[in-house]
Amino acid sequence: MNQSMAHPWHCVVCQHLIEADQRYLRRLQTDRRMRCTLTEALVASMGFCDHHWQRLQESDPDIADWSRRCVSEATTRLGELFARTKLQDEFLQDLLFGARSRCPACLSSSRLEGRLLTRLLLDLESKRTSLRSLFSTQVCFEHARQLTGRAEGALRVRMRPALRKRSEHILSAAISIDAADASSGCPIEGLLTDALYPRVEGLVERSACDDAPAHSTDSCPVCMEMESGRRHWLKAVVENIRLGQPAWLTLPTCAEHTLMCLNTGDPDVALAVAQRYVEASLAPPRRRVVSLVRKRRRGSTRWFNAPAASADAAAEGPPPESAPAAEPVAFIHCPGCQQSDVAMRRAVFSFLRSFGRATDMQAPLLLGQLCLKHLAEVMIYAPEERTQARMVKCLNKARAEDRHAVTVPAVAL
Ligand SMILES: [Zn+2]
Ligand SMILES: [Zn+2]
Ligand SMILES: [Zn+2]
Ligand SMILES: [Zn+2]
Repeated sequence: MNQSMAHPWHCVVCQHLIEADQRYLRRLQTDRRMRCTLTEALVASMGFCDHHWQRLQESDPDIADWSRRCVSEATTRLGELFARTKLQDEFLQDLLFGARSRCPACLSSSRLEGRLLTRLLLDLESKRTSLRSLFSTQVCFEHARQLTGRAEGALRVRMRPALRKRSEHILSAAISIDAADASSGCPIEGLLTDALYPRVEGLVERSACDDAPAHSTDSCPVCMEMESGRRHWLKAVVENIRLGQPAWLTLPTCAEHTLMCLNTGDPDVALAVAQRYVEASLAPPRRRVVSLVRKRRRGSTRWFNAPAASADAAAEGPPPESAPAAEPVAFIHCPGCQQSDVAMRRAVFSFLRSFGRATDMQAPLLLGQLCLKHLAEVMIYAPEERTQARMVKCLNKARAEDRHAVTVPAVAL
């Protein structure tokens, strides 16, 4: 969270979530039971999400090292599991498709977020908190938006104009800072971060448009291509604003991608991005279009046999069997989410082509480069059962060779 700004905004929900992340890291260092079960949790979620993986790698070197060993151990167990379970099995389907949204560290923080928002709504309903004070100083815009989405009836009707008022207040405060103090290191970005969604620490640091990798992506080729796609998209956002093109072309509508675009060093870009995000959040529900990023799931158990050429169409396929109840308000399509999805699929298909051409010597090495999340994706998009069977074989072979090559004994789990 930006500490340099003196303004009244402070989100209690974001603050609790940041503390929960810090607690999670501390517990990984000290809680023996949690350490014992981390590998199991990593098998079930197929790794950490990108955000928490980066946090872990940037934390204490021992924890970073140890978490890498846990991921390696989880990969070994997954290889064994794939080898002895039919890939059509419902359990494995759930494991592979669930990899997109699961993360052991996110699990506890998303439960906490749900509990905090429920409590705030109850406080509003029982009038223990006034809408005015809650929306003006106690929650960020993103959490105010989420609260509005969760509310019902008369309360929701009252919250909509309050949310709009909040957005106007944020934007006018940002504009006035820009005009009065343009030379002092661009505080507008700090103000907008704190007012919109201070929770996602790290995204602002990852928002640089330069060509050097903004963070370590290890060696996963899919992660690297996605990172490069993200940087291209950030440049396109800046160009789009400078050329005065329509906002819907590239500007993000989700809080995470908005945060990524705030720190380009150009106050006009920060303002335009913030404006687009609040406008999209305030759009009437009937005009909203459900985001492209959703779980691809089919009725048939032969989900993995989709020909590669039709995979894009398949990804846009039928809606999920049951929409998640926790997100009653769908977002307007986010170009940032869309580019990330497209970059991921492009990288996965490029990997599958290389894997198809690789010799039996090269294939295990190639597969061993993938992070667990993208191992799940290449198995989902693999064009045929034979390719999947080869992957499972390679996975076990690569891990067996790793085990022989490792000289440091693995941590006792
Ligand atoms: Zn917040
Ligand atoms: Zn996570
Ligand atoms: Zn990856
Ligand atoms: Zn997005």
